[in-house]
Parts: sequence; C-alpha cells; structure tokens
Amino acid sequence: MDIIRLLPDSVANQIAAGEVVQRPASVVKELMENSIDAGAKHIQIILKNAGKTSIQVIDDGKGMSPQDARMAFERHATSKISAAQDLFNIHTLGFRGEALPSIASVAEVEIKTRQAHEELGSFICIAASEIKSQELVNTSQGTNIIVKNLFYNIPARRKFLKSDTTELRNITTEFSRIALTCPHIAFTLIHNGSTIYQLPASNLRQRIIHIFGKNINSKLIPIQCETELTQITGFICSPQQARKTYGEQFFFVNNRFMKHQFFHKAVMEAYSGLINPESIPSYFIYFTVAPSDIDINIHPTKTEIKFQNESDFFQILMATLKEALGKFNITPPLDFDTEGQLPYQSISPKQSTPYVPHITYKAGYNPFHYHNQTLSPEDSDFEVSAPKQTYEKKGVPANWDILFDGVQEEKTIQATIPNIIEPIKPTVPNTSCHFQLKGRYIVTPVQSGLMLIDQKRAHERILYEKYLTELHTQKKNSQKTLFPELLELSAEDFLLIEELLPDLEYLGFELNVFGKNCYAIHATPADLSYNHTKEILIELIEYYKNTERNIRNKAQERIALSLAKASAIHYDSTLTCEEMTLLVDQLFACETQNFTADGKTILHILQYEEVNNWFS
Ligand code: ADP
Ligand code: MG
Repeated sequence: MDIIRLLPDSVANQIAAGEVVQRPASVVKELMENSIDAGAKHIQIILKNAGKTSIQVIDDGKGMSPQDARMAFERHATSKISAAQDLFNIHTLGFRGEALPSIASVAEVEIKTRQAHEELGSFICIAASEIKSQELVNTSQGTNIIVKNLFYNIPARRKFLKSDTTELRNITTEFSRIALTCPHIAFTLIHNGSTIYQLPASNLRQRIIHIFGKNINSKLIPIQCETELTQITGFICSPQQARKTYGEQFFFVNNRFMKHQFFHKAVMEAYSGLINPESIPSYFIYFTVAPSDIDINIHPTKTEIKFQNESDFFQILMATLKEALGKFNITPPLDFDTEGQLPYQSISPKQSTPYVPHITYKAGYNPFHYHNQTLSPEDSDFEVSAPKQTYEKKGVPANWDILFDGVQEEKTIQATIPNIIEPIKPTVPNTSCHFQLKGRYIVTPVQSGLMLIDQKRAHERILYEKYLTELHTQKKNSQKTLFPELLELSAEDFLLIEELLPDLEYLGFELNVFGKNCYAIHATPADLSYNHTKEILIELIEYYKNTERNIRNKAQERIALSLAKASAIHYDSTLTCEEMTLLVDQLFACETQNFTADGKTILHILQYEEVNNWFS
C-alpha cells in the first residue's frame, strides 16, 4: 500500500512559517522588505500590542494586479526570480516567494493593493491559508497589508511569544536594520498610537543620527573603498566611542543586513591598539559585491551570508578601516588598561637587563593556613600556569611592574598565579600592621610572607557583597539629584528601559520620561557616585540586551558590581592605618577574598621563601 502523500498547501505553508515567521518582528521584516522591493518611497508600520494584535504596513509602491494579489499568497509565488540562475543574480530583498503564504498560514491577513494605472484596487481577506473573500475596492496606490492575531491558530506558538516590550524591541531591531539600508525611503513606526520612529528620506549619516541620536554625529568616520572585488562604504565610529558592550554593529551586503563574525574580527583588528580589547566599536559597513560572489540562499531568515574569497574581503575591510582611522589622525594611546594605571612617568626607565620574575607556587597550597603546613622543596618548585583566559585578554596584570619595582619585557613574563579558583576561606591576618604601597596596595606581613592587597579591588569585593545582600533583601535608598541628568537613548534602548524600570526603582534609581527617547534621572542609589549613573544605566541596558533570562538576579549582581566598582575607593587615595585595618577586616569577612566579582585578583602573597631566594 502506498503511504506517501503530498501535504496540503496549508500544512506545507505552516511548516515553512516555522522558519520564516518566528515572531512579530519577522513579519515586520518581510513586509517592509516587500514594500522596498515594490519601490515604495514612504513606508508606514502601525503596530498594536507589539504586533501580537496587529501589524499593518502601508506603502506607496507599485502595488499588485488583482490576479497577482491572489497569486502572492501561493507557495513559491514570486515576481522576483523565475529561473535557477537568477538565484545568483539577486537584486531584491525577497526572492523565495515564501513570506506571504507563510504569514497567511499562521494569521489573519487583509490586503488592499492597487497599481498606478488601475482605477480600482483589490481587497483580499485570508486566514489560515484560506481565501475568505476577494473584491474590488477603492484604495490608494500601493499596498496596505494588515496581519492580525499572529499564531491565532497555533496556540503553542502564540504562547511562546515574549512580553510586549521584548517583542517590540525585536521589531525595532529589525526595523533599524532595514531603515539603515535605504535612507532615501521615509519610514514611520507607530506603536499603540505613539510614534516611535519618524524617519524622513535623507542620506545615510542623517539616517544614523535619526535612529541613534544626535550624539553619534561627531563620532562618525566615513569609510570608502573601491576594489575589483568589492566596494565598501559607510561609517565607523571613533575609538573613544567604543564601549564594553555598548554600540551598534551593522554589516550590510548589497543592502541586506548580515551577521559576519569573521568580518567583525577584521574590524576589531583594525581598531586593535586603539581601543581596550574588551570594547567594541560601533560601525555601519556596507559591502557592494557581485551577486555571484555571495550565496544568500543559506537560511530563510537570511542574516548569515556566505562569501567567496572571505579572506580577501577580510584584508580589504581591515585596510579600509585602518586607513579611515589613520586619516582621522588617531594614534594608539600608550596603554589601554586605564583602571588605576600609574602615570607613565612613574615607571622607572628601562633597565639594560630587565628583571624577569619567576614565581613558583604550590597548587593546593592555602596561603592563609599558616600552621601545620610546610613547603617541601619539591612543592616550592611546582609551577602552575595561569588559567588561560585570565591573561589572554588582558596581557600582563596591571600591577606587575609595581610588584617588582622594575620594568619587564612583556613577552618574557611567564605569568603564573596560584591555583585558587576554588574560593578558600582564609583566616583574618592577625595583625593591624599595614602600610600602603604607592597608594595602591595594602601590604601586611603574614606568616608565609608579605600579603599585598589591591585596595580598590578589595573595596569592590566588600561593597559588591554588601550591595548584593541589600538588593536581595531590601529596597535601596535613593538620593535625589539636584539637577536631573538626561539620558538620551535610541528608540530601541528607550523601550528597553521600560522593562528595567521596576528593578531600577527598587535599586534606588528614579527615572522619568523626558521628551522623545529621553529619560531624566531624578534620583540615584545612595552611595553611587553621581558621575557614574549614566554609565551604569547604559551598561545595564547593554547587559539586558545580551541576556534575556534570569534577568532580575543577574541584574542585581550586575548592578551590585557596577555600584561597587563605581563607589570603591580609588587608587592614590591615602588610607590611614585604621582605614586599612577596617578594609582588611571587612575583606576577610567576605564570602570570597581572592577575586573581585568580575574575576580580578585581589590579593597576593609574596612568599617568604621567594624573598629568601633573592638573597641567596
Ligand atoms: P518574495 O518577496 O520572496 O517574492 P513574498 O511572499 O514576500 O515573496 O511576496 C510574493 C510576491 O508578492 C512578491 O514577489 C511581489 O510580487 C508581491 N508583493 C508582495 N508584497 C508586495 C508589496 N508591498 N507591493 C507590491 N507587490 C508585493
Ligand atoms: Mg518578500
């Protein structure tokens, strides 16, 4: 008996929809792309409840004939390609003919469309792939499509949709990506009656400013390159603008947004030496290539694009960016680890034979258990190499030169640290005899040698644990700001803050909407240095952007860390003996003494044996 059957179209469409239509943002993207392909000059998007209730896209493009309007909902129906070889010569955003049938299989769709030369347009109503009605109507030129109740017929998928704020954020992300590809088209995005974006037709620079705020203007550096293989245009941002995670990274190829890890590396390489290796610069980079050089037929959502000769593109991109950065006369600063660095003058001049530190540790040795623990000669030769990631990013620890009071060749340093990844519970040093070394370290004699504590990091750890406990157990007190600072955001981040407001309030921030995409900061958590408020808020926004789960706990940790970092004593602040004792006592009352919450070493013991060796 034959058992293989062709699936009905409605089922096939639903299966395709599983890939093409993941959330309201995917619908917005597909419909916007269709409008662009139709040559629209103005595209308006009207959303209700983050697109869950309805997504309407109105364009003034070329419209469709009554027959085409019907055909458009057939599977693999497209006006954009007709033969296999066309796949290698694609100049439109769509080409699969999958979007409309997929959308219509999982939602209720109404479309009104009219071509310029027609007197009447057509109206089609379709739900779950079934045409409910088709008639002729009066309508303006172009297409007006409304997608209602997405996933109404697939409750499991509807339930899977995230909160309105998250879905709206996904929409604004897609929206920005598309709006950045065609500054000459005007866009309006309206959500529940309020206008989120109103982007006039303009040039690229203005489009970027309209989306990301006028502050970005002075940081934009134009890029331009023309080779046989590709043309590269767009903007990158000045290195000063690069932040830990803050920033907008956009690659486009033939005006289509793409993600490209490899090319991102080329950007990072071009900036290397100009920015902290952990920061990411913002960029808006547009490649134009022969359509035959790329394969966009990889994935229905089409953000990963395969290039031929990727490494050639890599080189061209890197050279282009280096040149642009060079033209702007930006030279690498001498040092990137700004956190508490000593001024350069204080580093002693290079010695002819630099001292190469060589430190040995016993892996399981607990520096705080003074008694009943002796080092055998073999033990003291035991060398533990540093966990790789600890030094890979940062290079040599910032405090190295001070520890050894001399300048070392960077490459000769064999960084070795004690293997105390497992937090150990040390006992409090039994002394109040401390002194401060160069306004940075608290030095205390202990049984096994000399303990050096990084004062800022120690304080960070203390405050971190304090804030975290507070955040878990009680609302944080606020301090009112005398002159509210303004936090200007992109529309996307502005929406995101809404999601954070309850947590932020709990933590002592008070933010009120102040005009378009702007918040006024009326109060900040007590203890938080006023100067850091904006920085922390931006950090938090970025943090939220990159993580979606477990937000509250993580946010508390993050906020505690930011607060601690911002409020901790600085290097170069002179501490009295009592203050040092207090700091050390408090550090040893912490859950963990060895590392800060972001993994930096707080204390180190200079072994007595090691000192002895110097004099042997
Ligand atoms: P694709 O865009 O891949 O061709 P779609 O399912 O998105 O597939 O659209 C099918 C066809 O419907 C398109 O090829 C185009 O001819 C027509 N179409 C869709 N949207 C519009 C629009 N806004 N204006 C004019 N024609 C449209
Ligand atoms: Mg399409």
